[in-house]
Amino acid sequence: MEINLISDTVTKPSPGMLKAMMTAKVGDDVFKADPSVNALEEKVATLFGMEAALFFPSGTMTNQTAIKLHTNPGDQLICDKYAHVYNYEGGGVSFNSGVSCKLVDGERGMMKASQVEAAINPPDFYHSPLTSLVCIENTTNKGGGACWDFEELIAIRKVCDAYGLGYHLDGARLWNALVAKGEDPKTYGALFDTISVCLSKGLGCPVGSVLVGKKKYLDNALRIRKILGGGMRQAGFLAAAGIYALDHQFERLAEDHLKAIELGKQLEKLSFVKKVEPIETNIIIFEINEEKWTTDEFLEALSKKNIQIIGMGQGKLRMVTHMDYTGDMHTHTLKIIASLEGL
Ligand SMILES: *Cc1c(COP(=O)(O)O)cnc(C)c1O
Repeated sequence: MEINLISDTVTKPSPGMLKAMMTAKVGDDVFKADPSVNALEEKVATLFGMEAALFFPSGTMTNQTAIKLHTNPGDQLICDKYAHVYNYEGGGVSFNSGVSCKLVDGERGMMKASQVEAAINPPDFYHSPLTSLVCIENTTNKGGGACWDFEELIAIRKVCDAYGLGYHLDGARLWNALVAKGEDPKTYGALFDTISVCLSKGLGCPVGSVLVGKKKYLDNALRIRKILGGGMRQAGFLAAAGIYALDHQFERLAEDHLKAIELGKQLEKLSFVKKVEPIETNIIIFEINEEKWTTDEFLEALSKKNIQIIGMGQGKLRMVTHMDYTGDMHTHTLKIIASLEGL
């Protein structure tokens, strides 16, 4: 049994999803003539109660497009030091938009509204970059799948309004937060200017992300997507997977969350596990003291048992539960983790 807990992106399309893809009605989406892409965009826009949506090949491209829509070259955006847009998008913020990031020292990837306000450069002090955008991430990736307190998101909106800043949500795993906290996507749609969501993480699609937002922003997104090389032709085969995932593979995220908590509890029992970060969704981040094994040796020991997990640097290790991590695999993994003490 090969068990891959490296990410929730390792899933393969389910039989139902494959069937939906194979039977999709398609057209040329660059001419906006793909009925499946159009249906997905409408579905996601409706779900969030927002005016418009656009299908993209990746979450990086949705975020990069949103940043471009909200900023001009030379501007600065505000994000947490753990933000995906800052750490894991290849420096695209500067490459694509000519923008710098002002990093906030938040908690598990989450900032306070007061920290955001303090990070804004005075608008008429022309020596410093013009602050034009705030990006937040829910759930936080590097923050271990943590979910934001919605009240704090509202408080940050007020700061954005007071200073005329755009407000973008990197919601690659927003689905997990919605399920974990029983939240309504429409409350997010009402709060943010733009939201990017991934279909290729917990929802189990092979490819795809959607940018959803106010029409005044999204109108220009088509052009930016074209410039970034993200115009796709018969993309309806992929959009059909997204529609299927939203209809059939959304609620089940709760199972991933339950398994993650059980894995965390098992890890906590090990004497050489120093710390397991709080588990709110499908990500488990933990640290080991390196008396028994170094982190590399620990990864190697698990790998020998056909369990793949990933190191995050600074002694941190990560596991992510997902659709293709079955009940049998879970039982087996819990047993293997328990046996590590005696190795
Ligand atoms: C995965 C992820 C993205 C987008 O990644 P792609 O691999 O480009 O689809 C964006 N933000 C966060 C927080 C993510 O975890």
